[in-house]
Amino acid sequence: MGNVNKTEKQALLGDEAVALGAIHAGISAAYGYPGTPSTEILEFLIAEYEKNTAKGRAGRRVSWCANEKTAVEAGLGVSFAGRRCIVTMKHVGLNVAADPFVNGALLGIKGGLVIAVADDPGMHSSQNEQDSRFYASFAMIPCLEPGNQQEAYAFTREAFDISERFHVPVLLRLATRLSHARAEVAVGDKRAQNPVSKAENKSEWMLLPAHARKNYAALIEKQNAISAWSAQRNTLELEDRDMAFAVITAGLGGNYYNENFEDFVKARGGKAPARLHISAYPLPVDRIRTLCGKAEKVLVIEEGQPFIEERLRGLLPQKPAIAGKLAGFDNEGCGKAPAPRCGELDPDKVRLALGLPPRANILSSAASAAGVTVPKLPGRPPQLCRGCPHADSYEAIKKAVVGLESVAITSDIGCYSLGASPPYSVPETIVCMGASVGMAKGASDAGVKHVVGVIGDSTFLHSGITGLIDAVASNTHMTLVILDNSIVAMTGCQETIIPSDKLRPLVLGLGVDPDRLLELEAKKPLVEENAAKLRVEIERPGLSVAIFKRPCIEALRKWAKQSKTASSG
Ligand code: SF4
Repeated sequence: MGNVNKTEKQALLGDEAVALGAIHAGISAAYGYPGTPSTEILEFLIAEYEKNTAKGRAGRRVSWCANEKTAVEAGLGVSFAGRRCIVTMKHVGLNVAADPFVNGALLGIKGGLVIAVADDPGMHSSQNEQDSRFYASFAMIPCLEPGNQQEAYAFTREAFDISERFHVPVLLRLATRLSHARAEVAVGDKRAQNPVSKAENKSEWMLLPAHARKNYAALIEKQNAISAWSAQRNTLELEDRDMAFAVITAGLGGNYYNENFEDFVKARGGKAPARLHISAYPLPVDRIRTLCGKAEKVLVIEEGQPFIEERLRGLLPQKPAIAGKLAGFDNEGCGKAPAPRCGELDPDKVRLALGLPPRANILSSAASAAGVTVPKLPGRPPQLCRGCPHADSYEAIKKAVVGLESVAITSDIGCYSLGASPPYSVPETIVCMGASVGMAKGASDAGVKHVVGVIGDSTFLHSGITGLIDAVASNTHMTLVILDNSIVAMTGCQETIIPSDKLRPLVLGLGVDPDRLLELEAKKPLVEENAAKLRVEIERPGLSVAIFKRPCIEALRKWAKQSKTASSG
């Protein structure tokens, strides 16, 4: 599990523990695309490499990429050259990277390749709750799921060894509460980087059908060895345990179970259930059968979707009864209320699933016994910052379509998605990175007369650009509005992959008519003027693009701070 020095400890976020684990595992490169809750992994790596590497070299080895697909492809290139690489992204980013990710399993991975994916159960900053364990299973590669910051560090180190041992990428699955919580982590020594030594067997790296068939057969053949590894990685607690009641925990679910363990055992008259904690996949089938052999009931506590529970129903005979997120037990008490299917788990939800009285009741009775009134805090929905350039762009778009019949306004992922709420209420759709462009094309093709797609500069470079190529190819009657705030604002002001002044030549290079490309300043005093110019384009047949320019307020603050630090240094 990687050599860990018990004496050197650092207080790290889960994401930072992953980053440090990767450094200590001897990575030669790291790539990613920012996305909550994964962003801090690469931010930490960039900061470390800028500190420790001669200026200018850091960007070559540790960098943000145009999107998650290009990041994984760069990671494959590093592995092909024999060196270790970590690639980071949020869960929905793995959809973008799915092609190289799934095909990567069929290659002869040489240098360890770890794909760290942070899931966002509860959708704190995401458009869905997808569970990355399904992707690992689909690609037939190992997956490690740390349950705390120490494991995040140690599992990351281990993931590189596993990747080189089985010659497949390894998925490291994180979740918001782990990524963004800080704890003390004992760290180990730094391993040296692998030397550059290119893969020699070319057929392992060429997915032409003749090679791909052999490589796929080889991947299937590896599954027994990978399963044997995962079996010994997952811990059974059987000694002096009640074998009639089995609990399976995974990742963070294990922590929430631990928090309630004492009360749970007390409520069961001192009988602790048999338990299997899963932190490595594929599922340890034999261990599950050992655990459940005499069980009458099995309770599953896992963060995310019911990945284990679903498989369990196919693995075990009719008996034992299984409870988790899909169903509860029939009788009263533990497992009667299944763990909620939506949203993230927490100790209180697990407590209810265990049939224990809610802690909130205990706390409020304690508070009222002490004469304390606990105030209810008002909700604080997210909003555009005061002075945000997007506010002035949305005002202009809103005015530009006033009185028009048959209007559709599609939007995208970024700070500007907040324009869907009052007082702006402009976007009608928000689906996934880049979708505003393709959806605008589709709505126009379907017969909507006045169509506006709205996308940020970074999202446009991530995946809006290909949608615009489609629109250029068919001269779609639509107007694409690119909101250029010069930064990737929503995830903490990372630099865009190319500077803003390259947007105009890029859009023109795709074939947009220079006469149909507007560049407008997103400023309050210009709202009326911008709206009038935009309206002309919206009504004029064919494709037009309007770039609204003004830097993000937070970016201006960040740049001012940086230049102050630079001048004082
Ligand atoms: S961070 Fe920047 S882009 Fe995002 S809402 Fe604030 S000012 Fe606008």
